Amino acid sequence: MPILAERLSRIKPSPTNALTGKVLELKAAGRDIIGLGAGEPDFETPENVKQAGIRAIRDGETRYTAIPGTTALREAICGKLKRENSLDYAPDEVIVSCGGKQVLYNAFVATLDEGDEVVVPTPYWVSYPDMVLLAGGTPVFVDGREEQGFRIAPEDLEAAIGPRTKWVLINSPSNPSGAAYTADELAALCAVVRRHEHVWILTDDMYEHIVYDGFSFVTPAAVDPSLKHRTLTVNGVSKAYCMTGWRLGYAAGPKELIRAMTVVQSQSSTHTSSISQAAAVEALNGPQDFLAENARVFQQRRDLCVAMLNQARGLRCGTPEGAFYLYISCAGAIGRKTPDGATIGDDTDFVTYLLESEGVAAVQGAAFGLSPYFRISYAASNAELEEACRRIQRACAALA
Ligand code: PLP
Repeated sequence: MPILAERLSRIKPSPTNALTGKVLELKAAGRDIIGLGAGEPDFETPENVKQAGIRAIRDGETRYTAIPGTTALREAICGKLKRENSLDYAPDEVIVSCGGKQVLYNAFVATLDEGDEVVVPTPYWVSYPDMVLLAGGTPVFVDGREEQGFRIAPEDLEAAIGPRTKWVLINSPSNPSGAAYTADELAALCAVVRRHEHVWILTDDMYEHIVYDGFSFVTPAAVDPSLKHRTLTVNGVSKAYCMTGWRLGYAAGPKELIRAMTVVQSQSSTHTSSISQAAAVEALNGPQDFLAENARVFQQRRDLCVAMLNQARGLRCGTPEGAFYLYISCAGAIGRKTPDGATIGDDTDFVTYLLESEGVAAVQGAAFGLSPYFRISYAASNAELEEACRRIQRACAALA
């Protein structure tokens, strides 16, 4: 009898985490690699937040906390949801987990039975389909086509909903495309969900604060309050507060669902670190002015990369509303030959060629469910980004 569960054959390791491992390996072997694969800000955690973590250790906040998170943190989250999203939640409608990733995992394990469906717009964050599969569910994909700015159309959402649909996933701004929905666009998607009473919305608002050109972020429960009782709003401190390593995400939703997710968590991690929780209280309640400053820096980098990559032969790239990713069409490179005589057959071949020929690490669109594209993260210095874009231009020019 094999030792590994059959369940495991449904999923694969995260391709973006795998790329990070490969970049570290190549760098350790002395190769000059620019890694544009990682999904984390290159800024430090703000000093006041670090100090709050240190204080928590000194003050002995080092024991188990309540499973859904400390009351202080859940109150801070309710304050944030009210202040920034005009949403009213009480602490018992909130759960804190080890990153947004565990929040989503808890939600799927708590709600999906074998064969239940989750509508996942493409291109999607790599972990959504695998998490759904691991929980016994079935992802149903809806294409967010490039000509629609990588957003899904209401009629395509309507067509994807069936009797087994439990969740519709919304991720705005999106990883990997950076696309964000306006209030009107979200309202049109909410109107579809409203017609199907058995369907809930799971909105992943992780990139809420990383938006550009004055874009106004909105979240479904605020756009359509009539859906609040069947919406789970997921967020976290990883991206906005540059706290990826602290492992802290949270969700707000109906009490019964939060209670079920808390039971799931009680039998896995129990809770995230007490120290991270204390730091997150400071992140959410402390000064917020650096958020706009970080977004300003990201916007400059976005503009730099969009301009340079649109000059690369065979590449095409729009200007996304948020996050720190570009989802670039490499359709014009497909079918061409590398200087070694190999043919670029798909976007995986293309990113392999970029890594091998120029030492630039990017992620193939196949990992996000929409080809032929590749994703770069521009959470890197201007100097690194300029050099990476020059190398990509050179690699494209060398294709015959
Ligand atoms: N949701 C999206 C869209 C993400 O891109 C990520 C991280 O890359 C997460 C959730 C998970 O974030 P966390 O680090 O809080 O687990």
